[in-house]
Amino acid sequence: MPKTRISAVEWAELEGRRPRLAGCNARLGVHGQSVRVPLARITTDDGASGFGFCRATEEQILDVLGQPLDALFDAQYGATPAGQFFDFPLWDLMAKRASQPVYRLAATMAGKPAPQSLRVSCYDTSLYMDDLHLASDEEAAELLAAETRAGLACGHRAFKIKTGRGARHMPVEEGTRRDIAVIRAVRAAAGEGAILMIDANDGYTLNLAKRVLAETADCRIYWLEEPFHEDHALYEDLQAWLRAEGLPTLIADGEGEASPNLLAWAQAGLVNVVQYDLLSYGFSDWLALGAKLDGWGVHSAPHHYGRHIGNYAVCHLAGALARLAFAEWDETVTPGLDGGGYVIEEGQVVVPDSPGFGLTLDAEVFTQAAATRGVIHAL
Ligand SMILES: [Mg+2]
Repeated sequence: MPKTRISAVEWAELEGRRPRLAGCNARLGVHGQSVRVPLARITTDDGASGFGFCRATEEQILDVLGQPLDALFDAQYGATPAGQFFDFPLWDLMAKRASQPVYRLAATMAGKPAPQSLRVSCYDTSLYMDDLHLASDEEAAELLAAETRAGLACGHRAFKIKTGRGARHMPVEEGTRRDIAVIRAVRAAAGEGAILMIDANDGYTLNLAKRVLAETADCRIYWLEEPFHEDHALYEDLQAWLRAEGLPTLIADGEGEASPNLLAWAQAGLVNVVQYDLLSYGFSDWLALGAKLDGWGVHSAPHHYGRHIGNYAVCHLAGALARLAFAEWDETVTPGLDGGGYVIEEGQVVVPDSPGFGLTLDAEVFTQAAATRGVIHAL
């Protein structure tokens, strides 16, 4: 029987929009409202197709054309080295060929019972430093409280707050005081039952991290993300301090340019939540990594901020991984990409059980984008 081969690849970048502007984080300026979503659709010579996040170059697109599917996707692992640049489109394609959602295919491949339905805890990742133009901490706190209430109205029950205002955008003391005021306001707005995380984008020192956690101890911060660039000695100190203070806060790290030692430090208990970027690291590699983290008792919480499609794709890891902590939710609407099957209810993403990633690509919008400013190659 002839092998099934890739017969066409189309690539285009769609543009999405957040409901409101995302401000600064500790390192960077305003993130804005516009979101780029690079997508590839791959088609096989028997007429099936799948699409997903893809940053392949034209050369890599030409390389994959005509390749047999079994050289690109391994039934035990997922994308092979030859298929790695098309990891997400391949998962969508393979799950659609099997008439299953990706989460069920991933669970079966991992030797886990395939869930009949799936709900994944998520957090609202939109609480950026939107307050830097405001003179008083009270006004800043009220603005972030209003954003929290907007998140609650959308079904969120967990919120991640950007902190580290004193690293760059404000003087250290004023910025730290404002971080604390904002955390308190978000806790009050979110209610006692909500889960709060803070993310300093490496904008704290060890001492500032301790101070903020000590002064917000009654706010029960679930995780502190990137307090400073990961460092073995500083994390040992911080973990010992958290235990001595009786604080339940976990340390989350690993997005961006992570230390090559990060996983060893996670295994040693210095980092409790690993956040390698979903879209750079890849779905297949995340499945393998997450299984390892499950074994170590470490949480998985892949980063994908700024890439709309990550909201949906990340949920499908939960079929296979026991310790996927949260899906990061960066609310965005991208014309041409329909994620309407996904609903947020009481802090959880209800994941559609339609085949593949459960997303719909508007053929006209995508084909037009690929034809005018993207790439199309067919055999
Ligand atoms: Mg972060």
